Amino acid sequence: MSSADILVIGGGIAGLSAAAAVSKHAKVTVLEAEEQVGFHSSGRSATMLHYFLGDRVVRELTLASRGFIEHPPAGFTEFPLGHHVPVLIHAREEEGAALDALEAEIRLFAEIDRLDSRAVHGLCPLLKDDAVHGIADRSAIRLDPHALLQGNLRRLRSHGGELLAGSRASSITHANGLWTVTTEKGESRSAPILVNAAGSWADQVARMAGVQPLGLEPKRRTIITFDAPAGAELDGLPFAKTVGDELYFAPESGRLFASPMDEVPSDPCDAQPDEQEVALAAWRMEERTTVRVERIHSKWAGLRTFAPDRHPVAGFAPDAEGFFWLAGQGGFGLQTSPAMAAIAESLIARTPWPVADVSAAELGPARFG
Ligand SMILES: Cc1cc2nc3c(=O)[nH]c(=O)nc-3n(C[C@H](O)[C@H](O)[C@H](O)COP(=O)(O)OP(=O)(O)OC[C@H]3O[C@@H](n4cnc5c(N)ncnc54)[C@H](O)[C@@H]3O)c2cc1C
Repeated sequence: MSSADILVIGGGIAGLSAAAAVSKHAKVTVLEAEEQVGFHSSGRSATMLHYFLGDRVVRELTLASRGFIEHPPAGFTEFPLGHHVPVLIHAREEEGAALDALEAEIRLFAEIDRLDSRAVHGLCPLLKDDAVHGIADRSAIRLDPHALLQGNLRRLRSHGGELLAGSRASSITHANGLWTVTTEKGESRSAPILVNAAGSWADQVARMAGVQPLGLEPKRRTIITFDAPAGAELDGLPFAKTVGDELYFAPESGRLFASPMDEVPSDPCDAQPDEQEVALAAWRMEERTTVRVERIHSKWAGLRTFAPDRHPVAGFAPDAEGFFWLAGQGGFGLQTSPAMAAIAESLIARTPWPVADVSAAELGPARFG
């Protein structure tokens, strides 16, 4: 049996970024069930950083993360972690009040342009004429999740940490102040601190460890890709989203991608797209834009896992010494990962609290009683 200071279950963006951050202070081992990192939610996202997701807490965590994304620490990555793209939120006449309310919230975090019908279509000519109002944030970021995952992995290893891929935790015990995790292959690792960053499986991992689950809810979301209309200029097209949670679309490797923003409850699993949501994505795309979705080029689904209040969870379990929760990253786990990793580092290694406008109590698991 090998020992470490900290064991992390989960090699998605949450587990890897926290592992990289705490590895400056301690010997860290990450156990990942799959053979590769980011196989589940972290590899299936819409790859965006913007403020039109979640509420104030999520926006503060996003704001606190963007400096890291725009200017990663020296040696973190050979490739940029993202590039600036515009986000356009568009609205029909009857949705104007909802757009006004959203604009007021987002102005606290980003410079927003208010767009009339002409400017909406200037930014996104694919929209139908009924998109008459819009707001745009021209400094959103299209993320490179691969660069983000690999940068964290490299950082972890440079501090002497290790990743054990293909290592699914199948039993967890706690004795004499040590957590011992045994994998399906029969290997064991022990440490005084266990970080539960198992994404959609985090409640299952807690149950395995005899810790009270939080009531996390995995929800499936679907994305399709398809050809853009012949001759359409994709360069400069925004990430375009309805003011309500109905549809987003954006350019994707010479084509377009779209999501019907579905939130279908699911058990933790290797999520697969359902034909109903695939059809809904195509239908909503045709309803809101002039694009005909003739043929779907590819489709995928992933799970977005939410805590009951839809805020992420970071903190030691009140009912189990040394058991650290890092879960509930919902639809914002990539864009908040630098701040969440710094928060995990602060709580585990007792470094200064990094995000002035979000408190430890707002994120801690004790808030669920
Ligand atoms: C369609 C879609 C669009 C999205 N768009 C965005 C976006 O634009 N911007 C954004 O910031 N976020 C977005 N998200 C959300 C983001 O992808 C997630 O919040 C984030 O990836 C969650 O990371 P995670 O590490 O918690 O989970 P995961 O990436 O799922 O990682 C958890 C890992 O734990 C491992 N694991 C589970 N159980 C065990 C076990 N017993 N032993 C060992 N390992 C185990 C799993 O194999 C998995 O690799 C989107 C998600 C989806 C699905």
